[in-house]
Amino acid sequence: MTWEDAASALEAADYVVLPCGSTEQHSLHLPTSVDTLRSSYLTDELAERAPDHDLELLVLPPLPYGYSEHHLPFAGTITLDAGTYQDVVVQIGRSVKEHGGDRFLITNFHAGNIEPHKLAIDRLQREHDLPTRYVNWTDFARDELEERFGDEWGHAGEHETSVIEHYCPELVRDEKKKPQTMHESEESEAFRYFDDLTVEGGLGDPTASDPTFIAEVIAETTDRILADLQIEQ
Ligand SMILES: [Zn+2]
Repeated sequence: MTWEDAASALEAADYVVLPCGSTEQHSLHLPTSVDTLRSSYLTDELAERAPDHDLELLVLPPLPYGYSEHHLPFAGTITLDAGTYQDVVVQIGRSVKEHGGDRFLITNFHAGNIEPHKLAIDRLQREHDLPTRYVNWTDFARDELEERFGDEWGHAGEHETSVIEHYCPELVRDEKKKPQTMHESEESEAFRYFDDLTVEGGLGDPTASDPTFIAEVIAETTDRILADLQIEQ
């Protein structure tokens, strides 16, 4: 878009959307771009289906860096510190507001971003008067994922492996997929870094991935999120 295109798109949009990913290790079989790829593909699904729900979404370029301090012991992880990340999100929202965006929507695809996002949203709504909605995508799919995959499908496990196999199977190292090896820990333990939890870097069992099942989950989750984003006229 040129700036003139952007001006009209901002005017027309019900929500200006910031897809939020990360650049961090995703075990031995997935690339460090997993969360950013998910942020891009799954937010595009929302934008494409939005007109069926009488909504218009304007999607910003995905933010490829997040708060990933806990993955730093693994090579390829890039993190912003939590305060910097919070500021980045606020400054993007502030720019959107400056040019007439009425409503901001953050779509999130990395759990580490959640706490800084909460604080950024407080500032955007209270200090910058920008109404902001928050979609942590996985929360809208959680019931179906748990029913199918149990409790351990999180980081680089059944869920994320299935999503990458659905959109870009060429990026998955099939020969490196294996059930992830967990270190023993007590329920009350607060881990410092992800290598306190797991040997390979992931959770769950990536060999149980199912891209056909995940395509159904994506379609249903997309509709569920868009129903939630309805605006009272
Ligand atoms: Zn991830």
